[in-house]
Amino acid sequence: MNGTTKVAKATSNGHLNHEQPPLDHDLHNGWGTLYSANAIKNDERTRLVWEDYAKNPARVEGQYHKLLNEYTTRFASFFGGYWPITFHAHVSDVLIPTTLASLILNTASTCPLVVEDPKLSPLLKDDPEPEKVHQFVRDLLGWTDVHISAPKLATVQGIYGCAFGPLAHSSEEWEYQIIGAGPAPFSITRDDFASEDILLEKLRTAKEQGCVTVICDLVNASDGSIFPPEHYRMLRICCTKARIFLLVDEAMTAIRCGAPWVCQRPEYSENPDLQPDLIAFGKGMGVSGIALNFNGMMMRHLAYTKREQILQTIRFWRSMVTRPIAIPVLLEAMAIVNVAEAEEWPARSEKIGRAFREFILRHAGGEGQGKEIVRGIGAFIAVDREFSKRFRVMAAFRRKSSWARWLPKLDTPAFVDSDEIERYLLGPDAKELRRALASEAEEQGTTPLWCCICGIDAAVVDDWCRTCFLGYCGTEDCKKGFESHTCL
Ligand SMILES: [Zn+2]
Ligand SMILES: [Zn+2]
Repeated sequence: MNGTTKVAKATSNGHLNHEQPPLDHDLHNGWGTLYSANAIKNDERTRLVWEDYAKNPARVEGQYHKLLNEYTTRFASFFGGYWPITFHAHVSDVLIPTTLASLILNTASTCPLVVEDPKLSPLLKDDPEPEKVHQFVRDLLGWTDVHISAPKLATVQGIYGCAFGPLAHSSEEWEYQIIGAGPAPFSITRDDFASEDILLEKLRTAKEQGCVTVICDLVNASDGSIFPPEHYRMLRICCTKARIFLLVDEAMTAIRCGAPWVCQRPEYSENPDLQPDLIAFGKGMGVSGIALNFNGMMMRHLAYTKREQILQTIRFWRSMVTRPIAIPVLLEAMAIVNVAEAEEWPARSEKIGRAFREFILRHAGGEGQGKEIVRGIGAFIAVDREFSKRFRVMAAFRRKSSWARWLPKLDTPAFVDSDEIERYLLGPDAKELRRALASEAEEQGTTPLWCCICGIDAAVVDDWCRTCFLGYCGTEDCKKGFESHTCL
């Protein structure tokens, strides 16, 4: 047992006698958007700026570019050379073919091969020749008219997809499918991985049809299944041969799956030549966007070698959009990276993953034999949906999936120890802890946030469970499921 874990004692009026409970059973955390509720509080650098911002916003606005640059370099240092360039509210906003094509065009048009060539560079020539630059860039990327006028994305089957836009066509959920719009993504199926020749042929076709990027995720965000490392290697090699950029969607996996990108785990990164070109990030990072890896195999063709060259292309892109990210969001995002580094969240994620798996398998006993009960990597834990019920936790579900996703906060001390999880989630201290949460909620006029049956926002219902601190969304189905739960 972890001797440093603080123990919460509920006082006579039901309040916890310290600010943070040793753990809570909210393993939903806004679909994984919360790594921690305390990033700004625990990061002195951003907390001081935050306090200053509350008193004197104009003074902090004056430091906008300084803060944005600080975030950019902190991010690149924490993630080992992946540079955040474009920012968006949601990751669906950025996984749009035209946005990605423009971003690649910007990165190529401002690469050293262009800006340092006196015959091409708009910076070095008195009479810029944009047509010439454009033609050079098209040749460099191997793009034709179709990549410019009707760019497409290729996705590897089983990808989580997007809430809207072209990628929603390939969603597993019909609610997303029916609002999919734009050219359907080019689909790469599991069968295409039968051999390198087959996959390469497929990617060459994708490229001809206008695909500018292949998107994959390494841990399926819906059911926790893993993209086999040997498939990843084959995909990276074939993308390079077909001259297509490779993007790994890390919205769910960044930091939560160790490394700090899941693609930096040893099983994916053994060969340093096989890195992706782009990463999509979001959710727990506090802001969504794309990070560029200038060591990616396609990105290397653009010949960025110096830090100043990289900062310059980032500046060019950001100068097209006014204030790419607002100050409060920027500060929160920066605090998250700072605290993740100071508290070693990637390593903690591994420990949390181990502790939860130990706890789950202990409870599964015989059931764990021969049946897959738990999936995922690190602190992304997918649990058999039926089996998950017995823990009376709030989890994130996809409607059709038979898996419940447990996405614990990364800074909760008790989560790194399976005995502590036992004790506070189901054991002797569980009831006391939940009673304290319930009485705090009653005082605040709030209710449990997530439907314990389907995972969507819980409705404000009167009959939520004060013993287990669980609520439901108000539909008949979930009401039935909720009413049939046995209390702790
Ligand atoms: Zn529900
Ligand atoms: Zn109950």
